[in-house]
Amino acid sequence: MAPDRPPSVDRLARSLADTGLPHPLLVDAARQAVADGDPADAVDRARDLAEATARHLLTGVVNATGVLLHTNLGRAPWGTTLDDARYRTLEFDLATGERGSRQDRAPALLARACGAEAAIVVNNCASAVLLVLAALAEGRSAVVSRGELVEIGGGFRIPDVMAQSGARLLEVGTTNRTRREDFARAVSAADDAALVLSVHRSNYRIEGFTESVAVADLASLGLPVVADIGSGLLDAACPWLADGPPAWLQGEPAARQTLEAGADLITFSGDKLLGGPQAGVIAGRADLVAACAAHPLARALRPGSLVLHALQDLALAYLRRDGDAIPFWRMATLGVDGLRERAAGIAPGLVADMAAVPGGGTLPGVEIPSAGLRLDGDRSADLRAGSPPVVARVADDATWLDLRTVHPDDDALLADALDRLGAR
Ligand SMILES: *Cc1c(COP(=O)(O)O)cnc(C)c1O
Repeated sequence: MAPDRPPSVDRLARSLADTGLPHPLLVDAARQAVADGDPADAVDRARDLAEATARHLLTGVVNATGVLLHTNLGRAPWGTTLDDARYRTLEFDLATGERGSRQDRAPALLARACGAEAAIVVNNCASAVLLVLAALAEGRSAVVSRGELVEIGGGFRIPDVMAQSGARLLEVGTTNRTRREDFARAVSAADDAALVLSVHRSNYRIEGFTESVAVADLASLGLPVVADIGSGLLDAACPWLADGPPAWLQGEPAARQTLEAGADLITFSGDKLLGGPQAGVIAGRADLVAACAAHPLARALRPGSLVLHALQDLALAYLRRDGDAIPFWRMATLGVDGLRERAAGIAPGLVADMAAVPGGGTLPGVEIPSAGLRLDGDRSADLRAGSPPVVARVADDATWLDLRTVHPDDDALLADALDRLGAR
């Protein structure tokens, strides 16, 4: 073939089969390589494109950032059961052989674990809030403190969610101070108030001259109280941890205690402190949960069998009080000494203390004492280029590998990665 003639797309695509990509994607890479630029470089360009496509696929990484709930890495780590593809009893009742409900296993177990009468699961906590407002307050007013009209993560804004749900936002109080009287006055002045919404300020703090109303004080207003706790801690006492709640959890709202304080419904995320897959849980009074389940949006927001199966395993671990079976809690409660030992086992000269964080938009400002390895300079791109990719934190002209978020089985992979960098 003359050097200035582009190779045939099909032949080029077939020459890239070793990248492991399916043929149609190799054809895309080959076509683009042939169409762009110098024909003499088409083969190299096609390989670069195919390799970039393969690396862009969703893949497992070693999270050495020390951010326990890393939003960009899927928050809580969770396995898939893709290797074990089976039909599941998603909406099938084995006892009767009849149709069943997808909402009567994981949601019922989660309700049991946090002391709620009933629960349903939807796609995420944002959908949980949307569904609750649509089902219970569409065309009527939902009363919220001005100090809790928050934005969480990528554009979940309480006022916008309210608008989408068809509920009218009735703001009370001020940014820094809202009292029970503010709610009481608004509720009696409005003739259409459907519920009171309390929103956890998950990802920021207001300090100084502040006042807010506890769920217990909202409960006597005569309207259903919905508490969006977001963060997903099931029980403030953490009975699944042998040593009880870690010090850094102080003050985080929990599902069980929020219901005990008088909330009629709570909403929370599956992939924050609950430590499970992406999901949103609506739990509380059975009649209100049933109203949410009966709303047409419930169908649009429902999760599939993979998520419900993972949540069922998670809920069973909570009910067994087996925090060690929950990857997030296992990592969150590791002792620093053990982390230092693991670090010394990988590279004794690089051991360093550092601070991990809960992440996931929870517990702002909270640091968890941790340990791992410190490399001079920014080596993050080299670490990401490895297989499996290692994601590290860069600060103060150094690269920090926090072992709290690394599975101990992956320590050997980290050692290999450091060898490739010549850093060990
Ligand atoms: C995180 C959070 C949400 C959104 O949860 P997603 O599961 O990410 O949709 C809503 N409300 C509160 C208070 C939160 O902390």
